[in-house]
Amino acid sequence: MARHTRNVEKIPPRRLRDPLTRSQIMGRIRSKDTRPEMRTRSAVHALGIRFRVHVADLPGKPDLANKARRWAIFVHGCFWHSHDGCQMASKPQSNTGYWYAKLQRNRERDALHQQALRDLGYQVHTVWECATRNEESLRETVAAFFNGPASKSNAPSQLLDR
Ligand SMILES: [Zn+2]
Repeated sequence: MARHTRNVEKIPPRRLRDPLTRSQIMGRIRSKDTRPEMRTRSAVHALGIRFRVHVADLPGKPDLANKARRWAIFVHGCFWHSHDGCQMASKPQSNTGYWYAKLQRNRERDALHQQALRDLGYQVHTVWECATRNEESLRETVAAFFNGPASKSNAPSQLLDR
C-alpha cells in the first residue's frame, strides 16, 4: 500500500506515545525564536557583539554565530538536549525506549556538530535553557565566554564550553 512518506522524524502511533499533559507536550515542542534564544540574543547584543541567527551553513545551524570571528553559540532546550543533572531534562516515565533512542540521537548529533565547528577553528558555547531564566547571570556567563581566554586566541583547544 503506497503511502506518502516524507523524510521527517517519525512520531509513534498514539497508543505508543506518552500520556503527557498538553502543557508538557507544548513545553517539548521545538521551535525557533524561543524565549531562551531571545534572552541569549539580547545578552550578546548588550555586549555590542554582532552575530547572525540560525546560521544554516554551519554545522548544527548554531542559534547565534559570527563566521568572521569564528564563534558559535547553541541555545539548548534542557529536555531535547539532555542537560545533565537538570530537572528540566527529566525523562518521560513511559515509552522509555523510544525516548531514550531519540534523545540519545540528539546528544550524539550535538557532539558531532560541536566537534565539526571546533575543527573549523570555532569557539563554541552552549547556553542551556535553564540558565536563561536569570538574565543577569546569563549576561555574566555570556560575557565570560567572549572575554575569557578563548577570546585571546583562536586555538580550538581554548574553549569556554560549559
Ligand atoms: Zn537545564
